[in-house]
Amino acid sequence: MFWSITKLIQIPSNTGKMALIVLNLFISAQQVNAQQSDSFLEEEVTRAQRQMIQKLTGVEAIREEVYLSARSTPEERREVAGFLYRSLEKDGFTVQKHHYKVSNKIPLLDLFFNPFMGTNVYTIVPATVPTDEYVLLGAHYDSEPGSPGANDNATGVSLVYQVALQLRDAAYRGKHFIIVFFDQEEDNLVGSKAFARKIMKEGKHIHSAHTADMLGWDADQDGAIELEYPTRELKALYHRAAQGLGIPLHETQVTSTDHEAFRELGYPAIGLTEEYVNGDSTPHYHKATDTAETVDYIFLMNATRLVWSAMEQLAQTPQIN
Ligand SMILES: [Zn+2]
Repeated sequence: MFWSITKLIQIPSNTGKMALIVLNLFISAQQVNAQQSDSFLEEEVTRAQRQMIQKLTGVEAIREEVYLSARSTPEERREVAGFLYRSLEKDGFTVQKHHYKVSNKIPLLDLFFNPFMGTNVYTIVPATVPTDEYVLLGAHYDSEPGSPGANDNATGVSLVYQVALQLRDAAYRGKHFIIVFFDQEEDNLVGSKAFARKIMKEGKHIHSAHTADMLGWDADQDGAIELEYPTRELKALYHRAAQGLGIPLHETQVTSTDHEAFRELGYPAIGLTEEYVNGDSTPHYHKATDTAETVDYIFLMNATRLVWSAMEQLAQTPQIN
């Protein structure tokens, strides 16, 4: 609904009336334009997220006749890495696989237990202007054994994926964006830690690292999202983004997910999640019942909008140093 001038004032003459009709038409045209210039199409995002979550959780085949009941064994994780690789490639990204091998803490144990081996899948959405700054946005794709991991963390994967598409389509990017899907978060952050070491070795200038984990539960319907251990700057960034969207935010000190891998190496980092500390988080956590139909797709879409809005601000902020 929009506000109409003609209802509020006396119409002086036919000429005046015509002028007001024209003015009204002009106002409505502007409103239509404003809607069209918003590239974030909610229905489309939700449809794509639902489909991705169904493929990641075995409701739909991830490839030909392959249905996943979890994303935990080396074979299952290989299927997911392949799926993410192919999807990104099809959507026009230049995709890379980061294979890692991490020994057990006590080297002798390698003789009895296999070292950790896995694959992070990533792409870099390049800046449209010269800069050496990178923003990292990631989510883990593995799940606990025996759990389809819809909430944990097919939701985070589909969130990051949709934000990547928005970034790809942005006319201006003042920073590079590393989009990464981590392996083996459930094994004490093995995948994200390996990735953090890799970017440190490369000497990349990382503005900040953002990770999304469990964003599909909102039983109390308040739409609230938790910011895990944000720096002051990142907290302010998300609050600016949330204000425009009417999303309540809570700050927590939770470190038990991928953002910790980056903070540990000294990078500014933040985690995003549903109300894990504030008591409105999925009751299906790490269970066989963490299925696609338990996901709140509206909440997920709003969380996606929030992260996109934060990334959009970062993309539009010129490099300071
Ligand atoms: Zn998780």
